[in-house]
Amino acid sequence: MSKRSEEVLKENRLNFDGNFKLLGRADVSKIKALVNQLTPQHWVADQSRQERYNVHKDTQSIGLVYDLDFRHMNPTQHPALQMFGQAISPILSLIADHYDNTSIGKAMAEKYGQGYCIRANLVRLNPKGEIDPHQDKNFSLAHSHRIHIPIITNPQVKFTVGDETRCLQEGEIVEINNRREHAVKNESGGERVHLIFDWVIPGEPCCCALSKHQEEMCNPTLCEDTSLMRVPCECYPINSSIQ
Ligand SMILES: [Zn+2]
Ligand SMILES: [Zn+2]
Repeated sequence: MSKRSEEVLKENRLNFDGNFKLLGRADVSKIKALVNQLTPQHWVADQSRQERYNVHKDTQSIGLVYDLDFRHMNPTQHPALQMFGQAISPILSLIADHYDNTSIGKAMAEKYGQGYCIRANLVRLNPKGEIDPHQDKNFSLAHSHRIHIPIITNPQVKFTVGDETRCLQEGEIVEINNRREHAVKNESGGERVHLIFDWVIPGEPCCCALSKHQEEMCNPTLCEDTSLMRVPCECYPINSSIQ
C-alpha cells in the first residue's frame, strides 16, 4: 500500500475504530421545550420511516432535512426545520467545526468544497420500545457521519453499538459507528427523543474504498457491494494495526 493511501486510511474516520465518539456537549433546553410542545399528531404525521423499515416499528420521526431516496447531495428542507432551525443551529455549527477541522475535512474541503448536513431528524422511541440490531446499508449512510444528540432520555435507555452498550446523556453530541451493528432498548416507561444528523464531507472515501477502488472516488455504483454489505468489510484489521 502506498504511503498516501496509508495516510488517507489513517485519516478515514467514516468507519472509525470505535463504537461511539463524543464530539461535544450542548445545551438542548430550547430544543427540549419545542419537542415538549409537539402533539401525538405531529409524531404520527410522517409514517414513512417506520413503514419502510421494520426495525423502526417502535419509533416515530419528524424530518427537518431528509429525502426518502437517501440522496447524498442537495437535501430537501421540510417545514419542521422552521420550528427547530434556530434551536438546532448552535449544534450544527459545532458539528461543522468539528469535521471542518479534522485533517480529512480540511483536505477534502480544498478539493470538493465544504461539508454539509444531508439529513436531520427528530426520532422518538416509544416507552418500552426497541430498535432491533441492524447496520445502515445504503450509499449515503455508508458515506456520512451519523451523530446522535439525546434531547429527552433517561438511564434506562440503552444504546448498543458493536459490543458496547451506553446510556447517552442529554445534550451529548455523539457520533456512532453506524457500519457496526447497533440497537436501542428503552427499558423505561418514558419516551426517548434523539436529534440525529448525518454529516457529509464531500469526497471522503468510505472505509472500503482503498481496498476496492484505490484510484477512483466513491460513487453509488463502485461502492454498491460494500455499502449494502454484500461483501464483508475487511478494513478493520488494517485500520486497527496502524492506530
Ligand atoms: Zn470497509
Ligand atoms: Zn465508498
